[in-house]
Amino acid sequence: MASKVENKSSKVIVVVGGGIAGALVAKSLQFHAHVVLIDPKEYLEITYANLRAKVEPSFAERSVVKHSDYFTKGRIVIAYATGVTDTEVLTSDGEGIPYDYLVIATGANENTYPISRNKRLEQYKEHFARIKLADSVLVIGGGSTVDFPEKKLTLVHKYTRLLDFIGPKASCKALDWFISKNVNVILGQTVDLESHQSGDKIYKTSGGETIMADCHFYCAGIPWGMSWLRDSVLRDAVKDGGRVMVDEYLRVKGRKNIFAIGDITDIPEIKQGLNAIQHANIAVKNLRLLMHRGNENKMATYEASPDMAVVSLGRKDPVMQSPMSTMIGRLPGLVKSNDQFVGKTRRLMGIDASTCFGL
Ligand SMILES: Cc1cc2nc3c(=O)[nH]c(=O)nc-3n(C[C@H](O)[C@H](O)[C@H](O)COP(=O)(O)OP(=O)(O)OC[C@H]3O[C@@H](n4cnc5c(N)ncnc54)[C@H](O)[C@@H]3O)c2cc1C
Repeated sequence: MASKVENKSSKVIVVVGGGIAGALVAKSLQFHAHVVLIDPKEYLEITYANLRAKVEPSFAERSVVKHSDYFTKGRIVIAYATGVTDTEVLTSDGEGIPYDYLVIATGANENTYPISRNKRLEQYKEHFARIKLADSVLVIGGGSTVDFPEKKLTLVHKYTRLLDFIGPKASCKALDWFISKNVNVILGQTVDLESHQSGDKIYKTSGGETIMADCHFYCAGIPWGMSWLRDSVLRDAVKDGGRVMVDEYLRVKGRKNIFAIGDITDIPEIKQGLNAIQHANIAVKNLRLLMHRGNENKMATYEASPDMAVVSLGRKDPVMQSPMSTMIGRLPGLVKSNDQFVGKTRRLMGIDASTCFGL
């Protein structure tokens, strides 16, 4: 351990965002530099497991991981980044944190999670209790899980096909699967939640339909403003939709010492955890090279990944899209595994694949 600390460079790397992309960078570089991780919550949420965690709260004990379990050497700042200058990241606590290198990994959706891991676990238990009690459930957005066949499930999706981020064949297979499970699927509509009163069991859609449900879950993600980046020195690299433009080395366009990785980037590929992990690995390599004054021309480059995706439908029947084919059922199930990649992700983060930490 001591030798690892001795190797530490005096450079400061600030990582903004403790999702899988930022967390992996912080974990990988903690013994090579002084790393500061800024995140508004004290834990890494393995987001690709969160639908399972709603219907099986014990799953959350493995998929909600305290930052301090994998990031033991650096500094964790529980706050929002609110601005970036050429030399500092500004936080919601009013602090200015100086950096030599900066990694932006704030994802594509607004963070709506509680600060504390225990609160997040309670939230999952509460969601599960609501589902257990309900005879009918309304899922708003995307929707990919059916765990209680005895309940009446309605799925409303604003686009005209399900899983619109992958190909139409996968969408058709997913729709057929939901219909085979007697799920009422309403496409091309939204649900008016603004005028919906808490406890009311009647929901109105944009197409004028009425849905009766005992409870609802909003699973569509809330795109966020990115104003902290738009009003910062990085404004020229932020596209209209809020994504950040990067070069082939994953550096923010026009910047030598600032990287952007994960869902926030404008790389034309499906936004998924596996790609975010690849981005993190490239950024780590390049940061190590830059810190050791290596030849910039030797930096690793990233190529957009092919349109490969595995999306869970219920527990055992994922739909898989690869460049060669689209399939549903047992074979894709073997790829994704019943574990939703949680064990793999925990191993990647250097923590035990099965044990519950921080309980
Ligand atoms: C329900 C669901 C199922 C999915 N299934 C799969 C799957 O099966 N396979 C797959 O590969 N991918 C899947 N994905 C996609 C995958 O989860 C994302 O691609 C991945 O999490 C992106 O990682 P990220 O680190 O870029 O962003 P995120 O995981 O979104 O993390 C962003 C982090 O930034 C933090 N943050 C936000 N704003 C600020 C701020 N201003 N200051 C500081 N921190 C901030 C947030 O708190 C969060 O910790 C799924 C996603 C969801 C939601």
